[in-house]
Amino acid sequence: MAKILVIDDDITIQLVLQHLLEKEGHEVAIAKDGKEGIRKARDWHPDGIICDWLMPGLDGLEVCRQVKAIPDLATTFFVLLTAREEVDDLVKGLDAGADEFLSKPVEPEKLLARMRAGLRTVKSAQLSRTLTQQLSQKSALLAALVEVQGCLLADNSTNGCYAQVISTLGRALDASHAYFWEASPESPNLNQIRVDWFPLQHQGSRRPGLQYPDSSYPPASWLELLAKGQVIHTTAANLPASERQIFQELDIQAVVLFPITVNGKYCGFIGCENHNRARLWDDSEMDLLRATVSAISLHLERTTAEAEKARSLAALQESEARYRAIVEDQTELICRFAPDGTLTFVNDAYCRYFGISTDAVRRGSLVPIIPDLTRDFYTDPVVTREHSLILLNGEVRIHQWTDRALFDAQNRLLGFQAVGQDITDRKRAEEEAIKALEKEKELVELKSRFISMVSHEFRTPLTTILSAADLLEYYIDNWNRTKNLEYIQRIQTAAVSMMNLLEDVLFIGRSEANKILFNPKPIQLSEFCQKILAEIKACNPTSHSIIFSEHFLDFDPAQTVVSKFGQSSPTMMALMDEKLLHQIIGNLVANSVKYSANHGRVEFQLVWGKSEVKFYVKDNGIGIPPEEIPHLFESFYRAKNTADIPGTGLGLAIVKRSVDVHGGEISVESELGKGTTFTVTLPLIKYQG
Ligand code: ADP
Repeated sequence: MAKILVIDDDITIQLVLQHLLEKEGHEVAIAKDGKEGIRKARDWHPDGIICDWLMPGLDGLEVCRQVKAIPDLATTFFVLLTAREEVDDLVKGLDAGADEFLSKPVEPEKLLARMRAGLRTVKSAQLSRTLTQQLSQKSALLAALVEVQGCLLADNSTNGCYAQVISTLGRALDASHAYFWEASPESPNLNQIRVDWFPLQHQGSRRPGLQYPDSSYPPASWLELLAKGQVIHTTAANLPASERQIFQELDIQAVVLFPITVNGKYCGFIGCENHNRARLWDDSEMDLLRATVSAISLHLERTTAEAEKARSLAALQESEARYRAIVEDQTELICRFAPDGTLTFVNDAYCRYFGISTDAVRRGSLVPIIPDLTRDFYTDPVVTREHSLILLNGEVRIHQWTDRALFDAQNRLLGFQAVGQDITDRKRAEEEAIKALEKEKELVELKSRFISMVSHEFRTPLTTILSAADLLEYYIDNWNRTKNLEYIQRIQTAAVSMMNLLEDVLFIGRSEANKILFNPKPIQLSEFCQKILAEIKACNPTSHSIIFSEHFLDFDPAQTVVSKFGQSSPTMMALMDEKLLHQIIGNLVANSVKYSANHGRVEFQLVWGKSEVKFYVKDNGIGIPPEEIPHLFESFYRAKNTADIPGTGLGLAIVKRSVDVHGGEISVESELGKGTTFTVTLPLIKYQG
């Protein structure tokens, strides 16, 4: 079945042909003259035209020429009806584009047969034209796709090539406006046109105020659909009235929007608009769009990954540089070791500190610090330790090292890092501070012991003095001289004891200030000792037995002052400070008497050695609690078992300092309830004079 236009001024022929053709199944239109025929042919697009040659106005030849000049109608099967069949006419008709000639009167069978044959030819010509058109469109689209892909492949930047891609796409799809519209992956409604394109003739034609991005275009509902991966392809006419108005304002009659995803995330869309006609895009064009979107998507993935890689690399380099700077600028000593303890890295500070070159370290010729490889690194990955070391200049320095075991992602041991610092000064300052603190504590204790001693030891003689003075004042005229003198002596004794106490305190004060006078003189030691013992005995006439003995052990008189004075045993002499020696012997023996019960036995042994002399002062008294022995030589210190036995706690302190001044030593052995032995060792000084 075909569409056939009959152009003839003869109504009879019109009717006959119409009847014949309709009977054959064709659709028929009639035009009564050439002008009408051309108009109808243009509007109706018939497959075949049967036109009378001789007509008033435009003749068939002219009609044929004009119809064939219209491109869409060039393949229309054109039959000229002619009364004569002369060769001349045929040539003219063929020149005008006619495909067939039929002479009047028309023979129906012949006409129909010619029409069938002609229409077949026309149909195949039309088909081939359509195919050619489709082919050329497809090849144009393919060329566009090749251009797009070539452009994307050649470009590694994230932006440079999209302008060209979009213009190629816009041209290939014959669009009035094409764009790549970018969306924020976090918020798809935050959009901006990344690149857009207008055909040359339209550039700059968009009215001001309607530039994108416009808050109303694309509608929010579309953006949501696009973000879900949906393609939008519509004409303005298909939209609801509210949206249609937006499109009218923007001159958009048809639009296609294709979402783009990068690594599965929506990141914008590609769009094309038609402004002058409501033309939608056919399947081939949609294929091009789809392929372009895929290519852009791949390009974005690649360039994003590359940009990300470049960013990571730059960040890595920066952090490496920062790390290196930190490590190199460190004043801390940093070194790294392989799991077997081999030194693999040291920082500049390390080399500077140990005065070695990086090369020497690399050769492993000097490894001052070795990590502790014996520990369990998994339970104990970080340890801090102190380490003393003798430097090349012989100085001993103390370091604090923090050893850290390093693991990879699979928790395998990579090695160790040790960070160290010289803490010698800090350590010394700490020690000083501790010493100062201890001294401070000692002083506080000393003060409290001093106060308790003073309150005790001064009160007793003061009370004696006051009461004796009171009694004297009251009875001086009633008592006889002897009685008065007795009380005066009591006052004097108490005053002397206070004086002695004060002397002791002053002695300690002088010793603290290192101001004890040391005035060694030759002393006949044996005689000197016995004199002191006799004095003590005189003060305690009946109570104790004090036994003196003298011994010689490995004694070499040639080494001592003895030779100089030419004395022989037993009256040998030693160079010592008389006053201090009196303090030593007097205090020790007096204590032995004081801290042993009445009728106790005190032994004093003088033992001459090769280059030293020893005094042993031994009693069978109350003894000293072992835990208190270390404190005995502190000023004002008294053991807890002294009970009511009077004392100041200064005697042994004085003894100790006096022994020290002689360059000697003192030691004590004691058993509670059994007795005590003090041993003093004094060097025998060579006589210089
Ligand atoms: P004090 O004036 O208390 O005797 P010292 O300094 O002479 O002071 O002695 C200090 C302390 O040592 C005494 O208080 C006492 O506890 C103890 N001590 C000293 N000598 C003896 C000793 N021979 N037997 C027992 N304890 C002693």
